[in-house]
Amino acid sequence: MTQSVPLYIDGEFCQSKSDQWIEVTNPATNQSIAQLPCATDEEMERAINSATQAFVSWKQVAVSDRARVMFKYQHLLKEHHDELAQLLSQETGKITLDAKGDVWRGIEVVEQAANIASNMMGETVENVASDIDTYSLIQPLGVCCGITPFNFPAMIPLWMFPLAIAAGNTFVLKPSEQVPLTSMRLAELFEQAGAPKGVLQVVHGGKSQVDFLLEHSAIRAVSFVGSVPVAQYIYHRGTSYNKRVQAFAGAKNHMVVMPDANKNQVISNLVGSSVGAAGQRCMAISVAVFVGSAKEWISDLQVEMAKMKPGAWNDEGAAYGPLISQQAKERVLSLIEEGKAQGAVCELDGSQCQVDGLPDGNWVGPTLFSGVTTDMSIYQQEIFGPVLVCLEVETLEEAIALINNNPYGNGTSIFTANGAAARKYQHEIQVGQVGINVPIPVPLPFFSFTGWRGSFYGDLHAYGKQAVRFYTETKTVTARWFEDDIPTGPNLSIHLR
Ligand code: NAD
Repeated sequence: MTQSVPLYIDGEFCQSKSDQWIEVTNPATNQSIAQLPCATDEEMERAINSATQAFVSWKQVAVSDRARVMFKYQHLLKEHHDELAQLLSQETGKITLDAKGDVWRGIEVVEQAANIASNMMGETVENVASDIDTYSLIQPLGVCCGITPFNFPAMIPLWMFPLAIAAGNTFVLKPSEQVPLTSMRLAELFEQAGAPKGVLQVVHGGKSQVDFLLEHSAIRAVSFVGSVPVAQYIYHRGTSYNKRVQAFAGAKNHMVVMPDANKNQVISNLVGSSVGAAGQRCMAISVAVFVGSAKEWISDLQVEMAKMKPGAWNDEGAAYGPLISQQAKERVLSLIEEGKAQGAVCELDGSQCQVDGLPDGNWVGPTLFSGVTTDMSIYQQEIFGPVLVCLEVETLEEAIALINNNPYGNGTSIFTANGAAARKYQHEIQVGQVGINVPIPVPLPFFSFTGWRGSFYGDLHAYGKQAVRFYTETKTVTARWFEDDIPTGPNLSIHLR
């Protein structure tokens, strides 16, 4: 009998009364590791009510005391880093290196949350009129919620609740039903860090639990990360219920390879950024655009990619793990078949991949296509697997036009030795996160995660100053104090009474 995952409501880890349960599996074996409840309406209501009650007192807690919870939390997360990474590997199949990175990128956001006071400073203009000053206060919204995807079970919940809570809000987290265990451990450690009862709630389920959050009048803001159709749905539905929504969606990230680039760097970075984490990263490079003679490197790329072997999380020889589910694997395999049928050249085919001793895992080997055109489904769709597609163009201008025509805008990179080419690229490309000789340009949390166009629905992005703005509202005060009212002389004590 596998464990049943609790809900975390009103400071209690409690068993759900639900009659709908989802099986959580280990993607390397497809064996069941836990049973996950879909929270009932009564449980959802209780979680939101508790968060509403907790907000009344939490917003009054001094900002430095809220920050101190984050300092303690950062310390605990570091202390439990390896344990969290192992748990995360169990439910995602990520190899240890990737799992540790997942936890670490989350810890960095908690560090930013510990610095909350300096991000909540308002502005002041003295003497906007005679004796009148205007200043702004940054205040928390109330109850916020987060809906997270499977691919970063530590990092993405940590993008959301620490900053929202440090800013004075309370938070309801609905983690991915495929990877709920890491979130539960994050919640336990948060409680140990001194977060008061009700400040964080964790509920489980799928669409109907998400709809409950989107429609509930007490929820003020919704943070979502996941696939494009769900991001669009959540953005439209959430905003139609007058909520603030930030929805981070899928991607198709291009790397432009100029002929003057450092060839060894290009090849090793392309391999790592396309196949690493089984390509299940929203910032993975999934398209390489070779400019001019750079296309001659594709055969060397094929040789290096073929060396990447998937395997179990604790297999030191494994470069990456399995896909998250059998369904995800079938989708990737069918896209590989479509690529072949539509005329792309399959330079390396990972569709028959097996891993010794783990016959039931969701394995896909590294896969490389050349001769790809923009009308093919392997170019148009986010594959979310260890598959790299290569296109060829003659000039940098053509590369820029091609990428600007693609609907997504999460990340991109250019590899070149020419500063002017790099500068032209960073200036003209319509993508929100640009790497120059850096394949996966994810900004550290003192910046924000700034995906654009079809990869993002909303205005204010994740972490950094933008996230603090997202989880707060600005109140502007205009104040006049009359000089005549200043007490003078012997009556001073009477005036001050
Ligand atoms: P998903 O959209 O299937 O699920 C994400 C969340 O939405 C889960 O919590 C799920 O329970 C919920 N959900 C699923 N269907 C729903 C529905 N119909 N209505 C309401 N809620 C629903 O995404 P996933 O497969 O878990 O994650 C992979 C996707 O996330 C990829 O497309 C990837 O690019 C994207 N992603 C984007 C970013 C980014 O920052 N842009 C980061 C990580 C992942």
